[in-house]
Amino acid sequence: MAQKTVVIVEDEADIRDVLTYNLEREGFEVWGAADGKYGLKLIQDKQPDLVLLDLMLPGLDGLEICRQLKGSDKTATIPIVMVSAKGEESDIVTGLELGADDYVAKPFSPKEFMARVRAVLRRGNAPLAETVGTLIERDGVVIDMERHVVIVAGETISSFTATELKLLHFLAFHAGRVFTRDHLLTTVMGQESFVVDRNIDVHIQSVRKKLGTERKVIETIRGVGYRFRDSRQC
Ligand code: CA
Repeated sequence: MAQKTVVIVEDEADIRDVLTYNLEREGFEVWGAADGKYGLKLIQDKQPDLVLLDLMLPGLDGLEICRQLKGSDKTATIPIVMVSAKGEESDIVTGLELGADDYVAKPFSPKEFMARVRAVLRRGNAPLAETVGTLIERDGVVIDMERHVVIVAGETISSFTATELKLLHFLAFHAGRVFTRDHLLTTVMGQESFVVDRNIDVHIQSVRKKLGTERKVIETIRGVGYRFRDSRQC
């Protein structure tokens, strides 16, 4: 396999160094930029496999870089992991809605950080390979869209509404990825006229209740949204 490449746009030298060190140790080729304008140019020139993007940057901020990358055919498919500071939840939400793939919040451990990087690259490579038809098995939860049931610990549960099943299927299919409420609302419930309650939290609450002992597979990310636990990250 060819060596994977990463561009880091981060103005704090210490963090840039730590990220670079950990990535290089695992065989990545890394380029770093300390300001937004140079960072954007570097990404456009190098076309890396992954971008690590700080949000607060001199020159051009992270969200603007994200917007420009996702808005151009040449760079739209490059996965972006945002590197955020505490209190930037609303910026994370905006970034995810602009198309960023994930984020890590400072301070983070190198282990957590590398797990995120690997997960994003893995998802980028083979998003469809693990599903057989409309059946998904994730972390002990089987979701069978055709039979309209969920199987948890050997027990078949058929009380899920169409919306709940769709929501659970979507989250499980993209396990490990955080989705904002807005994203879930548009993607999962978008044009469905049968959805009465358009409050995502209500549906999530109901899904969890029906999952019983496995309710924890759906994680709340405070201030951001929801994700299906990715046990492979641990
Ligand atoms: Ca910064």
